[in-house]
Amino acid sequence: MKITFIGAAHEVTGSMTLLEVGDKKGLIDCGMEQGKDLFKNAELPVTAGEIDFVLLTHAHIDHSGNLPLLYKQGFRGNVFATEATCNLCDIMLQDCAHIQMQEAEWKTRKEMRKGNAAVEPIYDMEDVQGLLGTMIPCRYHEMIEVNDCVSIRFTDVGHLLGSACIEVWLTEDGQERKITFSGDLGNSNQPILRDPQTVEETEYLMMETTYGDRNHERVRTDYVSELAEIIQTTMDRGGNVVIPSFAIGRTQEMLYFIREIKNRGIVRGHDSFPVYVDSPLAVEATGIFLQCDLDFVDDEMAAIVRRGENPLVFPGLHTSVSTDESKAINADAEPKVIISASGMCDAGRIRHHLKHNLWRPECTVLFVGYQAEGTLGRILIDGIKKQVKLFDEDIEVRAEVRMLPGVSGHADQQGLLNWLLSIAEKPKMVFLNHGDPESCEAFRDKIRELGYEAFAPYSGTSFDLIRGEFDVVTEGIAIEKTEPEASKPRENPVFAALVQAGERLMAVIRDLKGSPNKELRAFERQVTKLAERLENYRNS
Ligand SMILES: [Zn+2]
Ligand SMILES: [Zn+2]
Repeated sequence: MKITFIGAAHEVTGSMTLLEVGDKKGLIDCGMEQGKDLFKNAELPVTAGEIDFVLLTHAHIDHSGNLPLLYKQGFRGNVFATEATCNLCDIMLQDCAHIQMQEAEWKTRKEMRKGNAAVEPIYDMEDVQGLLGTMIPCRYHEMIEVNDCVSIRFTDVGHLLGSACIEVWLTEDGQERKITFSGDLGNSNQPILRDPQTVEETEYLMMETTYGDRNHERVRTDYVSELAEIIQTTMDRGGNVVIPSFAIGRTQEMLYFIREIKNRGIVRGHDSFPVYVDSPLAVEATGIFLQCDLDFVDDEMAAIVRRGENPLVFPGLHTSVSTDESKAINADAEPKVIISASGMCDAGRIRHHLKHNLWRPECTVLFVGYQAEGTLGRILIDGIKKQVKLFDEDIEVRAEVRMLPGVSGHADQQGLLNWLLSIAEKPKMVFLNHGDPESCEAFRDKIRELGYEAFAPYSGTSFDLIRGEFDVVTEGIAIEKTEPEASKPRENPVFAALVQAGERLMAVIRDLKGSPNKELRAFERQVTKLAERLENYRNS
């Protein structure tokens, strides 16, 4: 009976842990690595076809994104997850496959030009459909028998709709052990979701440490008043409020707040201001939030639903989907709120809305989530550029850029501590994952001071749960930090060809040195003419 730490070991993304008990093998999460990676992951020491089951904490891609790949490679067991997680995986994994396929298509075109073979997507829609067919929707608090060695129970941790920590009871040769996986832990007092709930006891614990070394600012933000003030001042100026937002989670919170603003009538003089949700994924996700069992939402949201009201829908809400409808949003001059993805402005329809609104001083761009280094969102928040490029156009940054403070989906150090301390008896060992090295190690030291046995494993480390000892302890293999993919602009191949042609021209011109002046003058006139033509084109 042992666990082997594979992904999100000393790093934040790519969550994956292998559990071996009796003759069964299972994974806890199977996430995709995103952004820059700090450490190389060990190879999974078993093949996909040997995995009997997967326990999934929540639908975020850094926890679920490699499940279709696991299926493609031969996994045919079941994935156990809460019902809301299953529903969110349905749209998120399809979206992810769509991105993989587009990426592969783009790379294929590039490789074919070099005479190389086509590039296969990591997985496609068929793999996603196959995987979705293996998912077993579960409820919170229910004891579920996975097989004769493993029983589990999901508990709400308020991080994303359906997110859970998973208690796991293990039996091998008459010996019993218990281990709990925290998943990502949410914040208290967030809209829509419950506060993280606790587990009573556990022998072993594996917990996340995204914010293991820091605390969120303790500002009590009244989101509704703050958002209303931003909408009021922007619309009084005749501008639009553009909100780059993650399609799932943050967008629904914004709708929840705006509904309250409209209900209380606190934006004056623009009574029926329109709100556009311009992201097909966000619209689908909103449907899932509205259809889910009330077990998955907090009391406040449940009360609204029980009164027969819709917590995410209000007069003036438009959920445009087609590209034409999306374009029409900016053609009309009425002040409006536009919510669109991606949340960090590095892709998606939001870039189109930024192109139309960023140069207008009467508009506001409102950020409502974390902006990673190198993304357009971060550049705008830092205010370091007066001009940005969108669709090959230079756009002046004249709109007001604001940030709604304190919105985070992750518990901070104090939140993590509170959750750990709520487990009455100290676990025999607390394994720390899902955090940068500084973060998981700071949290490890912090709880060791409090008398906990704690360990932050690197990928490939394994621990025997019967003997209570490490089998293998690895050191991390660091990967050189690279720029996040998103910040590298993709070079247009047609433009690159033009630059190459220009350089060839210069090279030939230099070789003409010593030729008769008559010829040189004639060539000079032709080249000047061409340069003028290009200049005229650029200035047109
Ligand atoms: Zn998450
Ligand atoms: Zn995560």
